[in-house]
Amino acid sequence: MERIDGKALAAQVKRQAADQVAVLRQQKIVPKLAVILVGEDPASKVYVGGKAKDCAECNIESDVIQLPAETTQQQLLEQIDTLNRDQSVHGILVQLPLPGHIDEKAVIEAIDPKKDVDGFTPVNVGRMFVGEDCFLPCTPAGCIELIRAAGVEMKGKKAVVIGRSNIVGKPMALLLLRENATVTVCHSKTQDLAAVCREADILVAAIGKDRFVGKDMVKPGAVVIDVGINRGADGKLHGDVDESALSDVAGKITPVPGGVGLMTRAMLMVNTVKACKKLNGMA
Ligand code: NAD
Repeated sequence: MERIDGKALAAQVKRQAADQVAVLRQQKIVPKLAVILVGEDPASKVYVGGKAKDCAECNIESDVIQLPAETTQQQLLEQIDTLNRDQSVHGILVQLPLPGHIDEKAVIEAIDPKKDVDGFTPVNVGRMFVGEDCFLPCTPAGCIELIRAAGVEMKGKKAVVIGRSNIVGKPMALLLLRENATVTVCHSKTQDLAAVCREADILVAAIGKDRFVGKDMVKPGAVVIDVGINRGADGKLHGDVDESALSDVAGKITPVPGGVGLMTRAMLMVNTVKACKKLNGMA
C-alpha cells in the first residue's frame, strides 16, 4: 500500500500560489483573505490560525476578524457587507460552525460570490453543478488533486463516496463525475454499505466516524481518500478509515493527518489568488 503524500502536494500547491502572488505584487496588487471567527470554539481557532499561517507562507495578506459569541446575526451580516464592499479584500471566509442563534445559510448567502473562496454560496454551488467556472469547495477540490497527483486515472473508474454533506460528500461526487468517473453516493441509510464500497476503484470516506472503514469495505488495490478528522478515545486524530487494517488491501491511501486536511488548506490559497485575479480583471 502506498501513502499519498498530502504534505508534499500541499507544499507544491502553496509554492505555485506564492509564485502567482509574487507576480501580482509586482503589479502592486496584494491578495487579501478576510476570515471571520465568531466565538471561542477551540477547534475553529486552530483552523483559523492555520489559514492565517498559510496566507503568510504564500505572501497573501490575511485579516482575522474575531467577533464575540454573542454577536447578532445582523451584526455579522453588516460585517460581511463591509468586507463585500472593501476593494482591498478578495476572499471572505466565515469559519463554521456559527453559534446556534445565527442562521448559517443566511450568512453564507450574504457573501459576495466573487469573494466566496470557500465555494459555499448558492451561486458557486450552482455554477459547479452545471460545470461553469467557479470557486470549488476546498476539501473536495483538494481530494481531486490528491487523486490526480497519485497518478490515478479517474475516467471510467467506479468511485464511491461515503457521505452526502453539502461541504464534502455531494460536491465530491459531482467533481468525480466531472472527471468522468462512475459515481455512487452512500450515506447513513445505504443498505449493505460494505458491498457497495467493495465495488469502488476509488473510495472517498467523508463520514465523521473514527476508523469506520475497515478491510471488509475495500476492494484490493483501491485508492482510498480519507476525509475524516476525528478525535479518538486515545486523544489522537484519526480518519474515517482504519489505515492500519488496510495495509495489504488498499493500493493507495491518504493518511490522517497529512492528507486531505493539508490539501483543503492549500486549495483555499489557490481560490484566494484566483479571486484576486478575477476581481482585478486578470482571469
Ligand atoms: P457530516 O456529518 O455533515 O456528514 C456525514 C455524512 O456521513 C452524512 O451524509 C451521513 O449520511 C454519512 N454517514 C453517517 N453515518 C454513516 C454510516 N453509518 N454509514 C454511511 N454513511 C454515514 O460531516 P462532513 O462535514 O461531511 O464531514 C465528514 C468528515 O470529514 C468529518 O470527520 C469532518 O471532520 C471531516 N472533514 C474534514 C475536512 C478536511 O479538511 N480534511 C473538511 C471537512 C470535513
